[in-house]
Amino acid sequence: MASRFRVTYATLSADNEDLHAWYEEGLETARGWLGRHITPFVNGEDRPGGETFEVHSPVDTSVTLCTVASATTDDVTDAVAAAKAGRSSWGNTDWQERVRVLRAAAEMISDRCAEFAAVMTMEVGKNRLEALGDVEEAADLIRYYCTQMEKNNGFAKDMDKLLDKESTRSVMRPYGVWGVIVPFNYPMALAAGPAGGALVAGNTVVLKPAPQGTFSSALFMDCLRESGVPAEAFHLLPGGDEVGQAIVSHPDVDGITFTGSYAVGMSIYREFATAYPKPVICEMGGKNPTIVTAKADLDLAAQGITRSAFSFSGQKCSANSRVYVEREVYDELLAKILERASSLVMDDPTKRDTFLGPVIEEESVRRYEKAVAHAREAGTIVLGGEVVGQTPDGVQGHYVSPTIVTDLPLEDRLFRDELFLPFLAIAPVDSLEQGLELANDSDLGLTAGFFSTDEAEIQQFFDTIEAGVVYVNRPAGATTGAWPGVQPFGGWKGSGTYGNAGGGLYYVQQFMREQSRTVVA
Ligand code: GLU
Repeated sequence: MASRFRVTYATLSADNEDLHAWYEEGLETARGWLGRHITPFVNGEDRPGGETFEVHSPVDTSVTLCTVASATTDDVTDAVAAAKAGRSSWGNTDWQERVRVLRAAAEMISDRCAEFAAVMTMEVGKNRLEALGDVEEAADLIRYYCTQMEKNNGFAKDMDKLLDKESTRSVMRPYGVWGVIVPFNYPMALAAGPAGGALVAGNTVVLKPAPQGTFSSALFMDCLRESGVPAEAFHLLPGGDEVGQAIVSHPDVDGITFTGSYAVGMSIYREFATAYPKPVICEMGGKNPTIVTAKADLDLAAQGITRSAFSFSGQKCSANSRVYVEREVYDELLAKILERASSLVMDDPTKRDTFLGPVIEEESVRRYEKAVAHAREAGTIVLGGEVVGQTPDGVQGHYVSPTIVTDLPLEDRLFRDELFLPFLAIAPVDSLEQGLELANDSDLGLTAGFFSTDEAEIQQFFDTIEAGVVYVNRPAGATTGAWPGVQPFGGWKGSGTYGNAGGGLYYVQQFMREQSRTVVA
């Protein structure tokens, strides 16, 4: 049954009463699902799996969301074997039929957006608007790749003809089995996007969720199951690094998508090709800068920067973690950012007015403490720096306060290392040129923001910045908040492999290889 509400870019707003009412109903439903036991799903069969772990909510650590049975070595072997055996039937199914089935899965996700978002809020601590956005993005990514198949006629095209009797067609064919390794921070969108792209292109998929986001990723797999994607085409392999490693090192896995850290992504990239090159699509994080010039609207800049630095507690690859601002407007901008950031509501993210919830786990809190200790030594903490550890009502969770650091040397590691925390470093610069130089002085190049009202400066930014997703004068998010089909989302340099821009024009083709078919009549 279609739901009464549809989340779109326009309806996803904090003052939409219908949206809140729908989410709250979803929350009731989702609370009834707590305690689910998630197991490997291989070739249409729920399997017992091996070692079991519990997923606790970072929002309220006394709550066990689900228990998870990790995939065993046999589960991985059998899933890859079934996916390999299924390549031919699914890969040779008409692309129109694959589109039909995947669109059905996308509809199901949209219809159940509120309850899925509620699970995600409790599971990874994203606030309700962000969680609703993540779930709808999952559906939209699938739909976008379906549309790309349609617009490109399944990526088959007649080639030039030189002889009357000879004709050639270029046909894009699936590779075979793809391993999809999902991060905790977008446990549905970054499961559904890569898996949806791989599947609609005719591949089969073995999917490993992040342990902390298993429940949300499993809900996506439920939709594939219920919407008629054949059992041999997708397999769920929950677990930790060892499961990911087993997928990456399996010789019958033909391609990998990975979203996560630079270090892990690079090691997969280096290790995956064995006998011959095999495709790896990696999205690997960022140390995303915003540059603000003296000609900027500082209110817009403060709004965009605050949102991108602290939404989802800085745990987005796209988060804004460093700001370079022309010296003459530095004090004014800093004051505006501080005013906004100090009034952000940190609380249980299922609550309506919460802007930021907890960080994902204890290990993140430890990382935060270390970053704070370093910031105190190397610079000045002008906001935050506290492990709060509970909501205002006293519910225990991984809450850490939004933190802003100034007076750091420009080469300090807080300007270099990705932290994945609500942590922002700000520095004055002498010129736009210096800001651009510092912004580009990084191995990473995912997103970047810019604030200026001067056309020539804006052009200079576009011509010089080394990043895959760039935004100018965007209060909704200086560096965050890409939407499928609108902002292709993929990084340059160490932030991603070529063609990794999800929701972009060149993404779904990555799951296919060209075959030139010549026939003589
Ligand atoms: N697509 C998200 C954004 O634009 C970020 C995804 C990520 O963190 O991997 O903010």
